[in-house]
Amino acid sequence: MTSTSAFAAPLPAFAAAEPNQVTDLTVSQADGFATVAWTPVPGAADYQIERTAVDAANAPTGTPTVVGVWRPNRQINNETPTFADAGFNPGTRFQWRVRARIGTAEQPYSSPVFDTTKAPWGDPAVAGQNLRTQWETTQAAQYTSDANEYAYTAAVDQLSERVRVVEIGRTVQNRPINMLVIGYPTPPATPAAVAATSPLAVNCNVHGNEPGDREACLIMARQLAFSNDARTLGLLKNTTVLIVPTINGDGRAANTRGNTTGQDLNRDYSLIRQPETAAYVRMLRDYRPVAGYDGHEYGNNQAGDLPMLPPRHQNVAQQIFDESLDMIENHMYVEGAKDGWWACPYGCANGSGVGLSEETILRNTLGLKNTVNSLLELRSSGGATRPDEGNTANNRRRKTFSALWTFNQFMDYHHNQLSDIKKARGEAIEFQAGNNGRIVFRGSRVVPLHPAPHPGEAGPREDLPTPDMILDNAPCAYKLTEAQYNGARTDGPNDVGATVAERIAAHGWKVVKVADGYVVPLAQPERGLIPLLLDEQGEEEWVSGERVYPTLTGRHNGPLTISGFACLSGATVNGPVNLRPGATLVATNTTISGPVNAANAAGVFFGDSSVRGPLQVANTNGPVTVIGTNVSGPVNLVNNTNGAAPYFAGNSVSGPLNCAGNSTAPTNLEVRNVVNGPRAGQCSTL
Ligand SMILES: [Zn+2]
Repeated sequence: MTSTSAFAAPLPAFAAAEPNQVTDLTVSQADGFATVAWTPVPGAADYQIERTAVDAANAPTGTPTVVGVWRPNRQINNETPTFADAGFNPGTRFQWRVRARIGTAEQPYSSPVFDTTKAPWGDPAVAGQNLRTQWETTQAAQYTSDANEYAYTAAVDQLSERVRVVEIGRTVQNRPINMLVIGYPTPPATPAAVAATSPLAVNCNVHGNEPGDREACLIMARQLAFSNDARTLGLLKNTTVLIVPTINGDGRAANTRGNTTGQDLNRDYSLIRQPETAAYVRMLRDYRPVAGYDGHEYGNNQAGDLPMLPPRHQNVAQQIFDESLDMIENHMYVEGAKDGWWACPYGCANGSGVGLSEETILRNTLGLKNTVNSLLELRSSGGATRPDEGNTANNRRRKTFSALWTFNQFMDYHHNQLSDIKKARGEAIEFQAGNNGRIVFRGSRVVPLHPAPHPGEAGPREDLPTPDMILDNAPCAYKLTEAQYNGARTDGPNDVGATVAERIAAHGWKVVKVADGYVVPLAQPERGLIPLLLDEQGEEEWVSGERVYPTLTGRHNGPLTISGFACLSGATVNGPVNLRPGATLVATNTTISGPVNAANAAGVFFGDSSVRGPLQVANTNGPVTVIGTNVSGPVNLVNNTNGAAPYFAGNSVSGPLNCAGNSTAPTNLEVRNVVNGPRAGQCSTL
C-alpha cells in the first residue's frame, strides 16, 4: 500500500517509474490472443509477461503466472517489443504485468493493465454466427471429430450464401475430403469461374497428429461466412477462399501422421500414389489457386511460434520463390512484430534436416505449380518462451489461435499484393513453358537469415544440389511407352495405384499420343515438375522416360514442313512452317519468320517464342498450348477437339485473336494476353 502520512503529496496521475521498471504497458485484444506491448528497458536481457485471472472488479481470482518470456530473437524490431499472449479461454478477464530481467535479476513489474479478452467469434444470438466446433464447446479439451466437422461445415454451407462445401475426393477409408469454397456474395459456380478470381488455398491438416491448424480453419470459415465487417467483405468480393479442413481424415481420426497405409501424405504430392493427395492435386488443377498455406505442427521447442518456409526446390521459378519469401519476410515477420507472434524460417534454432527440397512436399509441389506459398508450423510445445503450457488446453489454444492469425494475415497479403502475386505467377509460367534453364532434380535455394537481428537464430540447412542432381542440357520432352503410361502400378494402396496416365491427368499436363508411345513436352507450365517424375535421374520418379532432344536448334532458311514429331529449341526459321496431319510441333525460344499453319495436327506447343505471321491451329486432336509468345499477325484457334482447354496465356498478338469451335474454350490460366486487335469467340475474355 501507499504511504499513510497525512503530509504525503497526493499520488500523481502517472506514478513515477521505479528504476528499470517497464512502462507504457498496453494490452489489445484479438481473436484468441492479446498483444502485450511496452517500452523497452535499457540493458534488459528479456522480459517476463505475467497474467492473473481477475473478476469484474479486478480482484484476483487466480494465481499470478508468468505466461510469456520475450527474448530479442522474437521479432525484427527490438525497439518496440510485443508479445502475443495466448492460451487462455477466450472471453475471460485478466490483469497483465511485465517486468524486465537484467542478466537474471528481476526488475520491478510494470503497473497492471486489466482487460477482458475477446469472446469466441460470433454473436450467440445470431444464426450461423452462433455455430461452434467441438473444440470450442469443450474449451479445447477435445479436438473436433470427423462427424462434428461434417456437421459444422454443412451448417455453415446451409446458413451462408457465401459458402459452398464440395467433396474433392475420398480417403482410403472412404471419408469425404471436403473443401469450403467461400466468396461474396456467393462463390463462383464452377472451378474455372473460381480460378478466374485468383483464389487462395489453405490446406489445414495433412498430418493427422498435427490438428491445431484445422481448428483454426474451421473458426476462420465461420468468420468468413458470417462476418459483415468491411475487411472480410473486401476480401471476399475480390477473390475466393478455398479451405480444405482435413485431407487426411483417416489419420486425424486415428491421430497418426500418415494415412491408414502408413504413407506420409506430405511426401506424396508429386507422386500422388494415394487418393488423398490425388484429390488435392486435382483440386489444384481445376481451381488454380495463386497462393497457398500448408498447416503443420512442429516438435522443436526452441523454434519460434510460427516457423515458415517458401518453396525452395531449385526447379521452382525464381519469381515464385521470391514472392513467397516476400510474403514471409516482408509481411509475416513485419505483422508478427506488431501483433506479438514470432514467425521465423522453418528450422530456426536446431532445425537440422528439415525444410529441404523434396518435391513430394506440398510446399515444393505448389511452387512447381507456380503457386506462391509457405509451409506453416505451429511450435508443438510451449518451450522456454511460453512456460504456462503444461496445461494441455492452454497449449492447444495458443497453437490454434496462432494459426488463425497466420491465415488471416495470409488473406490480407493476398488481398494487398495480388497484382504482385499474379505478376510473379505469370512470369513463372512463361519461364517454365519456355523450357528455360537447367533441370535440378533435388536441391534447394538458400534461405538467408533475414533480417538481422534475429540473434542466435539458425536458418534452414543449405541443401544445395549435388552434381548428380543437375541436368544442364534439358531435353525437349519425355517419351513413355504404352506400358509406362498405361501399365498397372503397385505403389498405391492395396497395390492398385493409379496409372501414370491418370496421375499425369491429375496434374493437368499435356500429353501427345504418337505412333510408338506418349510424349510429354516440357514446354508447359509445370516444366519444373515433369522431369522429377519422368526422368531416370529423378530421386523419386514414376518411370524412366526416354529423353527426347530438340530436332532443330539453329537456322533454317525456307519453308519447313513437319511430319511426325519436331522440336525447335533456340531455332530461327526464315519461312513458313506447315504441320502435316498427325504432326507435333514443340517450339521454345524460337523465332519463325512466316506463317504457322497446323491443321489436323497431333499437338502444338509454343513457349517463349516469336511468330512473324499468322498463327493458325485448326482441327488438332491433341493438346494446344501457346504461352509467352509474340505473334505478329492474327491468331486463329478453331475446331480443336482435344477435350482439354487449349492454353493461350501471356502472349502478345499484333492482330485479332479468334477462337471458335474448340471442344473446350481456351484458358489464359489467369495470365492475360496483350492483343492489339479484337478478341473474338471463345477467346473474347483472354
Ligand atoms: Zn506436419
